[in-house]
Amino acid sequence: DLAQRAHQQALHFGAHFVHTLAATELRTEGSMRVVTLANGSEIRSRAVVLATGVDYRRLGIAELERLVGAGVFYGAATAEARALAGEDAFVVGAGNSAGQAALHLARYAAKVVMLVRGDSLAESMSDYLIHQIHVNSKIQVRLDTELVGGVGTHRLEALVLNDRLSSVTTTEPASALFVLIGAEPRTAWLQGVICRDENGFLLSCRDLAPAYEPLMSEWVLRRPPYPGETSMPGVFAIGDVRHGSVKRVASAAGEGSIAIRFVHQYLAETETKDGVEQHPVRGATIESQSPELCSIFA
Ligand SMILES: Cc1cc2nc3c(=O)[nH]c(=O)nc-3n(C[C@H](O)[C@H](O)[C@H](O)COP(=O)(O)OP(=O)(O)OC[C@H]3O[C@@H](n4cnc5c(N)ncnc54)[C@H](O)[C@@H]3O)c2cc1C
Repeated sequence: DLAQRAHQQALHFGAHFVHTLAATELRTEGSMRVVTLANGSEIRSRAVVLATGVDYRRLGIAELERLVGAGVFYGAATAEARALAGEDAFVVGAGNSAGQAALHLARYAAKVVMLVRGDSLAESMSDYLIHQIHVNSKIQVRLDTELVGGVGTHRLEALVLNDRLSSVTTTEPASALFVLIGAEPRTAWLQGVICRDENGFLLSCRDLAPAYEPLMSEWVLRRPPYPGETSMPGVFAIGDVRHGSVKRVASAAGEGSIAIRFVHQYLAETETKDGVEQHPVRGATIESQSPELCSIFA
């Protein structure tokens, strides 16, 4: 219903929708940004907002998929963690994002149980996270443990776990399950065009600073990037695809509305009475962007 209303409102404001065609290429032509679509057609504009999201690897367990949003959550635990005070939470996954989620949840939950299929965290998680997890008395790591089922009518009530060494299956009460078994940002088509982090998420604003070579050599503006603005001036990243975003519907929509404010600012600064002019000289460093301004997305 919300998406339908947003669609209607966008149409009302004159937005055009292109369905069933993926964007396959992005390039600059002077002050224009050119997006190529899968059928070879091109869209030219002065600014672009990238909101291509993330492909989450799914559990594929029907009874748990049914409870998504009702105790089962995909992605980081940022938003839900506070509501888990005094409860037990489970995290499935063994990568860095699972480790970070477990540490974050442990600040609020009574106990956090990490479910790990393999016999060690070392293969998939950074040493510093493994250390922090081991010294945190609230976190329990269950190695050789596979999540095979779930119980719950309206909300998650329990998880069914299989001990891979003994083959014994147990059902354990659970208030919340966070699934962090892999996420692929949809940015392959932007490789070498826009600065991405090591996992492929789009860097923006101050997050660009450590990674801005070599793509940031194209940065030619007097000012540093705006919140959400990527290494290509006038191109913004919002929602799940943005490095450091919260990975929730409300935050993605909120980032969109904030980014549009800066799109207007960008358009205003590039407009002249005679039309659109190419941006002026390079100069500002990315570090000079105020942390407060950039953190409005955080
Ligand atoms: C199973 C599941 C359950 C979730 N439950 C909740 C929940 O209960 N509450 C909550 O707040 N959040 C939930 N989330 C997270 C939420 O779905 C995301 O945070 C949110 O959808 C992010 O919005 P977005 O616009 O950034 O990306 P998306 O919603 O992923 O939208 C990206 C869009 O871009 C399109 N696209 C991608 N690449 C291209 C391309 N090259 N060209 C053209 N189009 C492209 C995609 O087809 C898609 O339509 C859940 C996520 C999953 C996977």
